[in-house]
Amino acid sequence: MNRIASRRWWLLWSLGLTVAAGCTLPHIGVPTRTPAPVTSGLIARGTPHVTPFFHQDSGQPGPTVLIIGGIHGNEPAGAEAAGQIRYWRITRGKLVVVPRANPPALAANTRGIPGKPTAVANLNRNFPRMDHPDDAPRGPIAEALWEFVCDLRPDWVLDLHEGYDFHTASKSSVGSSIIHFDDEETNRYVERMLEAVNAEVTEPEKRLASVPRGPVNGGLVRAAITHLQARGMIIETTWKEQPLSLRTRQHRLMVHRILADLDMITHGPEVRPPVFVSHGSAPPADGRLHVALYDGPGTSGEGVPNISAIIRGMPEATVTLVGPADLRDRPLAAFSAVVFPGGSARAQGQAIGEEAREHIREFVRGGGGYVGICAGAYLGTCRVEHYLSMVRAYHYSPWQRGRQRVDIELTEYGRDVLGLADRPGPFDVRYANGPLFFHEDGLVPDLDLPPFEVIAHFRSPARYKGQVQEMMVDTPAIVSAAFGGGRCILISPHPESDDHLWWLVEQSLRWVAHRESSPARQRVVLAPRQADLAATAH
Ligand SMILES: [Zn+2]
Repeated sequence: MNRIASRRWWLLWSLGLTVAAGCTLPHIGVPTRTPAPVTSGLIARGTPHVTPFFHQDSGQPGPTVLIIGGIHGNEPAGAEAAGQIRYWRITRGKLVVVPRANPPALAANTRGIPGKPTAVANLNRNFPRMDHPDDAPRGPIAEALWEFVCDLRPDWVLDLHEGYDFHTASKSSVGSSIIHFDDEETNRYVERMLEAVNAEVTEPEKRLASVPRGPVNGGLVRAAITHLQARGMIIETTWKEQPLSLRTRQHRLMVHRILADLDMITHGPEVRPPVFVSHGSAPPADGRLHVALYDGPGTSGEGVPNISAIIRGMPEATVTLVGPADLRDRPLAAFSAVVFPGGSARAQGQAIGEEAREHIREFVRGGGGYVGICAGAYLGTCRVEHYLSMVRAYHYSPWQRGRQRVDIELTEYGRDVLGLADRPGPFDVRYANGPLFFHEDGLVPDLDLPPFEVIAHFRSPARYKGQVQEMMVDTPAIVSAAFGGGRCILISPHPESDDHLWWLVEQSLRWVAHRESSPARQRVVLAPRQADLAATAH
């Protein structure tokens, strides 16, 4: 910064002038005493960058806190966390959330704005700079966001980002840190936020750190501090080695701590479905099918993204990723169903621990739904340590049966459960060492569970190391069972891998969540399978 610019900046600061670079004058709001509901609107309306904001006015005097997510499109935890935080209820001040600041980059999963030259691609360098008092934002996204922020005049700006490494272990990355200016008041909040998030970090090199060198020049937070006299910080998690649910949780813990320290919030930071929270209690039922999808240790492959995509495509459903720490908060009462995907059942069960396993059992016993796919299906069965023991089935050892496409065929009961209009013949599906279900045969006498019912059978064998697994033919491939007042469906193969079989996962979710009569549960009409088409062509 040159001397004159520096002097001018400090002059503006010390005089408390609010006419800032590139800003229109702020709106003068009329104070209101009745708690206003959340209002929402669009930033950059009518452009390809249009994105929603959510403005919650508690009706009580207090600070205005702005939360921004998704400025960099390849840092999804910030957008995810902001999308959850917008449902929090505040008791004082205003909470304004822009969950997805940079929609084109988020859609493309890129750091920069797709198709823009390098000089302007990084949105977090496009805001009015510190050493340029008359600087204007660069590019349409920065212009629209900056106008919005100038109108809002926030007291705090919290910008949620992610980095590739852990700052504590590798100083070249700002991942897992809070970047802020070294001033006494901000430092106090940062210290408490780090305390809250690090209480759950067991590996020392993954602990979150304070980076008091100040948010980057040209970034939104630095611009708001410099030109609008706001306070602010950039909050960074790390995508390396950490599932999205954990990074999202860390953002939630830190934002929650500062909101609590600002006396703005009374409920907790635990994971919730996207429903507004009433003070201090669980979210009210809103009729939607809220699915919690486990993405923690023991998951692998494309299960989590594929199942997320399936649920996002269901008009009545929402999906929220959860990990072991989330499950230990006992959040499931607010959800309709929980899904465990492929990977390793033992690793999943071990990672969540007995407390979370008991919470899942309580949830299903009380009427909740459980869908397990491959590893998640093993996890639902009995007789193995760390399993959920909800379905009276055991798996016939060894677990290695091969990875290939196999034929499965629905039973009459299965067609009924899945709401099928047509009677399909066998169809093929990807299989990867999923469980072979056998009725638990009395070896565990105190097991007080009803027998399972068969939704589909395997009709062709897999092959493992050249060995054809003949014994799996005509054994159950998909089963269902009641557990207390709730329902489980265990799916051994991977229908989520083929989008033409997504109906199987959708209908399973609706059935375990007791939504047979839901208008969204249409009876499925199957397309003829490729083999049948080939046969009729001859
Ligand atoms: Zn970033």
